[in-house]
Amino acid sequence: MDRHEVDLTIIGAGPSGLYAAYYAGFRGLTTALVDSLPEPGGQVSALYPEKMIYDVAGFPAVRGQELIDRLVEQAAPYEPTYLLNQRAEQLDKQEDGSFIVGTHKGAQVHTKSVIITGGIGTFTPRPLPDGETFEGRGLVYFVPRLEVMRDKDVLIVGGGDSAFDWALNLEDIARSITLIHRRDRFRAHEDTVEKVKASSVRLLTFTEVAQIHGDEEIEAVTIFNNQTDERETIKAQGVVAALGFKSDLGPLKSWDIEIDKRNIVVDTRMETSVEGVFAGGDITDYEGKVRLISVGFGEAATAVNNAAVYIDPSAKVFPGHSSG
Ligand SMILES: Cc1cc2nc3c(=O)[nH]c(=O)nc-3n(C[C@H](O)[C@H](O)[C@H](O)COP(=O)(O)OP(=O)(O)OC[C@H]3O[C@@H](n4cnc5c(N)ncnc54)[C@H](O)[C@@H]3O)c2cc1C
Repeated sequence: MDRHEVDLTIIGAGPSGLYAAYYAGFRGLTTALVDSLPEPGGQVSALYPEKMIYDVAGFPAVRGQELIDRLVEQAAPYEPTYLLNQRAEQLDKQEDGSFIVGTHKGAQVHTKSVIITGGIGTFTPRPLPDGETFEGRGLVYFVPRLEVMRDKDVLIVGGGDSAFDWALNLEDIARSITLIHRRDRFRAHEDTVEKVKASSVRLLTFTEVAQIHGDEEIEAVTIFNNQTDERETIKAQGVVAALGFKSDLGPLKSWDIEIDKRNIVVDTRMETSVEGVFAGGDITDYEGKVRLISVGFGEAATAVNNAAVYIDPSAKVFPGHSSG
């Protein structure tokens, strides 16, 4: 069995969870970070890694993925255990006040306290029909690093902002880009659509994937026009299925934690209705709550410092300054 033992388990490796991992390390706590996505970064990596963010303190402007890379780097000296591609499914409180967090892949994390930084819930990409066997063999649902598509023929599927942003961002990196959408209307911003139309990207409407071909890796994709049934097989070594994400509070709802609508109710210590379980970031709710990265950072620090006291009641909430 995949068994881990840590002081603090952080459920959700978005910006709030990553910062919580740094802060816990700073407080001398060992951590495990569980996320259902294959990469850390939450909404930022999955939805807008190439967009500039202007409202994170200390960064006049920062690219989404760069912010995430910096957060990972900041936590790295404390060696958090990453359990990626794993949905936290069970949270069981033990008689001694500790917890066992179980994932859908059977991992068990024995932990003294828990922080839930689960954002808008488990965040799973809408799958490309029949695509799952090609996951990791050329098919991706988001592109945290553009370089993986260098010199490839890339097929992008989707009509939203992500699909059109990938197309523009990959234009100078990929060998060729074809963007297909099953309708002739797009959810993407009009100006992005115009930019794609004016670019070298081949844009095909009323077009869907019929079949992906390839042995080890994707080599080609047959696409078809859903109005005329006309088919074409195009070379592609990379497929980006930008069909959106489903978010689901799912397992959290069965953990006996007070939830108001889709959010976890917390007190001023960021503690949930279950003693020893804290929360931070987009998932929390209280009067006046603002859902921003900077707010998530503050809540993560509060949650960790109070979790440290739950773990060791003789510890102080205020950790002292990092500047020594
Ligand atoms: C297009 C867009 C642009 C934005 N621009 C800005 C901006 O400019 N400035 C700003 O401050 N904010 C911006 N935001 C909002 C910002 O991205 C969020 O506030 C931030 O990502 C919240 O971080 P988080 O760590 O709390 O949650 P998230 O980023 O949502 O991360 C939560 C993570 O938890 C995981 N998870 C949830 N439940 C489970 C479970 N049971 N098991 C395992 N994993 C789980 C999810 O997979 C996810 O990775 C933007 C959002 C979008 C969509």
